[in-house]
Amino acid sequence: MEGRRFDAVVVGAGFAGLYMLHRLRRAGLSVRVLERADGVGGTWYWNRYPGARCDVESVEYSFSFDEDLQQDWEWSERYAGQPEILRYLNHVADRFDLWRDIDLRIAVTAARFDEASDEWAVETSGGPVTARYLIMATGCLSSANVPDIAGLSSFEGQVLHTGQWPREGVDFSGQRVGVIGTGSSGIQAIPIIARVAADLTVFQRTAAYTVPARNRPLEPDELRNVKARYSDLRAANRLLAGGFGSRSRAGTTSALEVDPDARHAAYEERWQQGGFTFLGAFTDLILNRDANETAAEFVRAKIRATVDDPTTVEMLMPSQVIGCKRLCLDSGYYETFNRPNVHLVDLRRTPIERVTRTGIRTTEGEHRLDTVVLATGFDAMTGSLLRVDIHGRDGLALREAWAAGPRTYLGLGVPGFPNLFVVTGPGSPSVLTNMVVSIEQHVEWIAECIERLRADGYTRIEATEDAADRWVLYVNAVADATLFPTCNSWYLGANIPGKPRVFMPLPGFPPYAEQCRLIAENGYEGFALGP
Ligand code: FAD
Ligand code: NAP
Repeated sequence: MEGRRFDAVVVGAGFAGLYMLHRLRRAGLSVRVLERADGVGGTWYWNRYPGARCDVESVEYSFSFDEDLQQDWEWSERYAGQPEILRYLNHVADRFDLWRDIDLRIAVTAARFDEASDEWAVETSGGPVTARYLIMATGCLSSANVPDIAGLSSFEGQVLHTGQWPREGVDFSGQRVGVIGTGSSGIQAIPIIARVAADLTVFQRTAAYTVPARNRPLEPDELRNVKARYSDLRAANRLLAGGFGSRSRAGTTSALEVDPDARHAAYEERWQQGGFTFLGAFTDLILNRDANETAAEFVRAKIRATVDDPTTVEMLMPSQVIGCKRLCLDSGYYETFNRPNVHLVDLRRTPIERVTRTGIRTTEGEHRLDTVVLATGFDAMTGSLLRVDIHGRDGLALREAWAAGPRTYLGLGVPGFPNLFVVTGPGSPSVLTNMVVSIEQHVEWIAECIERLRADGYTRIEATEDAADRWVLYVNAVADATLFPTCNSWYLGANIPGKPRVFMPLPGFPPYAEQCRLIAENGYEGFALGP
């Protein structure tokens, strides 16, 4: 690979990188995918912690671009587990003969745009390569956040991060385990670790809302029905804000327009059904605080009814807007706190002082542990992009250009960085959607754009400053009309000390996709084409 020139280099071999390769190869380009892991799968390669599974139903959280693929693949569960999703992505790599253009164990470290040739000089752990187009399919949740907790490196037991889980698995039997973090990853892992470990201590900073996943095997009939009208289902999903859920009935009124009994019945029905449909019970749950509070209070009542110990109940009570941080789905999370071997520590009341050689010391005392599991999430959306030392026109560094927060046009292009595309970048709907839907839309847009540039004899495309300025204002305006910016979420970068506080994803898939379509139709308005 070293020293070679490609039409396109794609960084990352998750859902995005795999489809990008397939689509660009079909367009006749020479393409190389560079992936730092020793396998494909991205998220589903790295996150092998116990209980890892998708939270968008598998028949929807999967590729739609190939009818034979979606007809042939048989999902076994409503929400497939990590091993099954990883098998699926390996199958995609086999089926479309992708391996021959993928280099594994290659980390991209730097990239510099050469204005004389309109090409990127890419530095990798395997040597330099050049490419006209550099496509960052590096993932929104792919840079683990390992918090800077005093003494962590002095701990003599194991320290594991959910997003960098050992391939060979971990046997917790007989161990004293501490889990830090109660987001989606912690909430999936905790009930399973609790069943095996001798003792489990959960260190919680913010109490989360979680609703039952109600995962179950998929019945053959159910799968047959989905497959009989698969393209209709996919098309219907693309018309929904989150790109999924068209099989469940969405609420049509405000939560404040119905009487308390009807409201309770609507929440209860969805609680029993399981999944994200809970927040679709009414039209204004993420728009109106009073409406939101009715859903939040319903979940709090479920916690009171489920957990036995009153002090634990109080600690588990979430207070922020429900859905402001990504809603979690669980399989027996609250019930786990009734087990005699499980203890909850509220870090707001008794913060961690330091990790010692033998455990975690809070202001209340030491918890002796054999293993610490960091379920502390990711430097989301910008982390993996900024870890690469990218320099655009006039040597401009991406890290400098984004010092005050990410600035993109459509989440796809960055002013000052010609021929650079980001798949599901900040400023696009990305993490607020079924990400496979967003990935497919971006991959197809990028591929069609490159096809057009080549057909029309252009060698350079760059988002204009003006278009990016307007786009950033637009994303903020859309987000400010919702309740999303009201809490310290990773959507805002609030989980990473020192990260600029900017709401990064754009709520609402269909209007976004329509804008992308129109911009392309109008000759890539807001982009400068050259030479
Ligand atoms: P990724 O899968 O993150 O792949 C990016 C790849 O780029 C990684 O393999 C990484 O190693 C590689 N890479 C990064 N930087 C470099 C570099 N410098 N050099 C070389 N390689 C590099 N989304 C949903 O819509 N529904 C779900 O149910 C869902 N569940 C999730 C569960 C977990 C545990 C997590 C962490 C995320 C989940 N997500 C879910 C979000 C998920 O990240 C996306 O759905 C999707 O898998 C992202 O695919 P991707 O290809 O864009 O990025
Ligand atoms: P997360 O949602 O960011 O949760 C991280 C947890 O760690 C939070 O409880 C956070 O507390 C805590 N934390 C972070 N730093 C800490 C510190 N220094 N001290 C103490 N606690 C700390 O991360 P995640 O759970 O890995 O999930 C990230 C995203 O990945 C999800 O939102 C979702 O999009 C995706 N995901 C999906 C699934 C699924 O169900 N399919 C599973 C896992 C992940 P604060 O809340 O106070 O910051």
